[in-house]
Amino acid sequence: MSGTLVIGAGHAGVQLAVALREGGDTAPVTLVGGEPHPPYQRPPLSKGYLAGAVDADRLALRAPSFYADRDIDLVTGERVTDLADGRAVTDRGREIPFGRLALAVGTGVRRLDVPGSDLDGVHHLRDRADADRLRAGLGSAHRIVVVGGGFIGLEVAAHCAAQGRSVTVVEAADRLMGRAVAPAVSTFYRDTHERRGVRVVLGGTVAALGGEHARVRAVVLGDGRELPADLVLVGIGCDPRTGIAERLGLDCPGGIPVDRAARTALPGVVAAGDCTLQPHPTVPGAGPVRVESVQNAVHQAKVAAATLTGGTPPPHETPWFWSDQHDLKLQIAGLAHEADEVVVRGDPATERFAALHYRAGRLQAVDAVNSPADFLVVRRALTRGIALPAEVARRSDRPLKELVGT
Ligand SMILES: Cc1cc2nc3c(=O)[nH]c(=O)nc-3n(C[C@H](O)[C@H](O)[C@H](O)COP(=O)(O)OP(=O)(O)OC[C@H]3O[C@@H](n4cnc5c(N)ncnc54)[C@H](O)[C@@H]3O)c2cc1C
Repeated sequence: MSGTLVIGAGHAGVQLAVALREGGDTAPVTLVGGEPHPPYQRPPLSKGYLAGAVDADRLALRAPSFYADRDIDLVTGERVTDLADGRAVTDRGREIPFGRLALAVGTGVRRLDVPGSDLDGVHHLRDRADADRLRAGLGSAHRIVVVGGGFIGLEVAAHCAAQGRSVTVVEAADRLMGRAVAPAVSTFYRDTHERRGVRVVLGGTVAALGGEHARVRAVVLGDGRELPADLVLVGIGCDPRTGIAERLGLDCPGGIPVDRAARTALPGVVAAGDCTLQPHPTVPGAGPVRVESVQNAVHQAKVAAATLTGGTPPPHETPWFWSDQHDLKLQIAGLAHEADEVVVRGDPATERFAALHYRAGRLQAVDAVNSPADFLVVRRALTRGIALPAEVARRSDRPLKELVGT
């Protein structure tokens, strides 16, 4: 019986294989992951694992026996390099026949394209090997420059500042986490990072990395300023891995295009997770998006498995995401798209508040800071289609839960 080949053993790939089995599929399933470790969770790499609070065993997505117990053939440390006529080949020469194919290949880190970007002491953070190198590199480093004020860069900055290191974040845009949160939340995070000892440079471009004896010593900004650095973390985003999909003949303009059923344009080929370009999950007609989150990877993988087997897809989910920086838990539900109004509930000075995004009077998303109850209420309201007009949300004197009546 020819079975399913799942390429990529991250959050999406593992969930896809599991969902095939949970859906009653008994055909062979081969799950191939390019990294040497058994599948693991990525979010702790910039949080508990970096801090030493989560060890390698606790990173694992499933217990070691899990895959064999479910008759999932897990291959690690091998990359699929070629595919043709129902056979895949890995870089170690293994041949894997398949009838159905799932691409869960994730993304690769974006690198700075400036002189000096290959100096020792310049780090990225996407996989466990990166995290291990970063942890080792931090050992003796005191002056840290983080290039990129997105989630990962800011989580690392917070960790380094908590250890008493001197930390500067350089962000090219005029606000932090600009693609994901409301302006008021960006401002709050800039102020809060600065209060906790992180220097934030907005509108800063990197012209070069200066070095001495092949080691990074400084970040040179576009305006000529030099920031001394013992270690530089580059956190400027990721690009989807589209090579295999393109080899199959798929056109991939910024991700592997899939429909709401996780189908690619090729019969019997699905894709899930960070590598996909999918119809906007919440705003019809908004244009396709790439969503980089564990929730999306897991949900889309379940959808893809149902598509492959003809099973019932899981119910629609509202996208959600989280980020831990210092002692602040940021939780985001929904996906804001061209919001024209933001209602801030609570006082940012208390470090507990929520920003609700609206477009044309319709609630789109919430950024909740240390406010898990508001996050849950909005997530539930968005999932169930319960209206929460802006004028109601503005009534800060009453809990959101009461206003929504859920
Ligand atoms: C440091 C960090 C912190 C994060 N924090 C959060 C967070 O707090 N909350 C949140 O929701 N999300 C977070 N994310 C994002 C989240 O981890 C991703 O959205 C999620 O991992 C996506 O899963 P995926 O399976 O699509 O891709 P990945 O996890 O990237 O897995 C893809 C896998 O495919 C493998 N692969 C690629 N090509 C091949 C090939 N040809 N052959 C074999 N294997 C291949 C890769 O090696 C990789 O292991 C974080 C990400 C990082 C890097």
